[in-house]
Amino acid sequence: MMPETDSILVVEDEAGTRATLSAILEDAGYEVTGLEKGTEARKMIRSHSFNVIITDIRLPDVGGLEILELAKEINPDVAVIMMTGYASIETAVNAVNEGAYAYFVKPVNPDEIKTTITNALKQQRLSLENKRLVESLQRSNKLLFEANEELKKATQAKSEFLASMSHELRTPLNVIIGFSELMRDKVPGKINEEQRQCLSDILDSSHRLLNLVNEVLDLSKVESGKMEFKLENVALTEVIESLTRTMLPVLAPRKQSLDIEIEEGLPAVHVDEGRLEQVLLNLATNSSKFTPDGGKLKIEAVRNGDWCQVSVIDNGIGIKEEDQERIFEPFCWLDNPLTKEKSGTGLGLALVETIVEKYGGRIWVESEYGKGSRFTFTLPLAITD
Ligand code: ADP
Repeated sequence: MMPETDSILVVEDEAGTRATLSAILEDAGYEVTGLEKGTEARKMIRSHSFNVIITDIRLPDVGGLEILELAKEINPDVAVIMMTGYASIETAVNAVNEGAYAYFVKPVNPDEIKTTITNALKQQRLSLENKRLVESLQRSNKLLFEANEELKKATQAKSEFLASMSHELRTPLNVIIGFSELMRDKVPGKINEEQRQCLSDILDSSHRLLNLVNEVLDLSKVESGKMEFKLENVALTEVIESLTRTMLPVLAPRKQSLDIEIEEGLPAVHVDEGRLEQVLLNLATNSSKFTPDGGKLKIEAVRNGDWCQVSVIDNGIGIKEEDQERIFEPFCWLDNPLTKEKSGTGLGLALVETIVEKYGGRIWVESEYGKGSRFTFTLPLAITD
């Protein structure tokens, strides 16, 4: 610790020089201790704290360099200034190389030494301030790291809880769906129109709930690292062709078209085929859902370096700029002016983003409100050449 008032030790065997220098520095407001001998100085350095030590290089008992060494060992921040006659300039230069702040050739110019001391003290304060800042930064970093670790554990626990809860919910839900279907199909006996309508409502809600439970399960599984990804080389053309078949019953009643444009010679992608189908189906279903009847949908795939860039495009309702970021957050869904009732879980895009990021890819949206949207995601190519 540095003392409150800047304190200076002057070690000089020549009484006149010592007295003059001490007087000048005291006048300048410093607390000055003047000593004649190197041995005394060594004792004093061990028991007191100084900001600056001014020492003659040639003392009768101990050399100035030894004083420098001891002072630096005890307090690396102390500024040691050497005084020397012309004969010892070389030693003084060595002293600077060894860590002395400066050296002066006697007779010392009072203004010069005062300026040097002022600069040394400024530097000392800056260095102390720096150290304090670094220490405080290190402390904050440590706290941040610990908080992050806690957060990771909590997120993991949340994902595991959701995964197991969703799993448990699916079994009774499937029983409800199964028996409702049996009753609707009149297997246990006849039902009237009102009962049929009730069963149909039960089934609609159960399917919606099952969809939500499945998406929560998927999302928490990916997040907790429990979802297995079987990576293989997959031909994108085949996946997209199969998607067009799956989408047909969704698109046909609404008279929506789906165009496919795949760059010629596009290499295979290295992904889990099932997850890729899930991503494409999610995006294509959204495009259809948020596009009026008779609208146009398109899937484009191009190569971009070692990546394949797939876009799912529609000329539907579009997304306002302020909503474009947040639609990827879990449970974010916006009103669909095309359908009055609330549909969807707000989990689809969150799941899609999590899956794409698992492959090291990314997903983004470009959209103009009222004109349509383009969702683009990247997938690693199977070969790199
Ligand atoms: P949801 O199950 O509600 O579709 P998503 O996470 O898939 O959940 O989508 C979140 C929201 O993003 C949707 O509610 C919708 O407002 C918006 N959105 C997604 N895709 C499109 C699209 N192609 N056109 C317009 N809005 C879209």
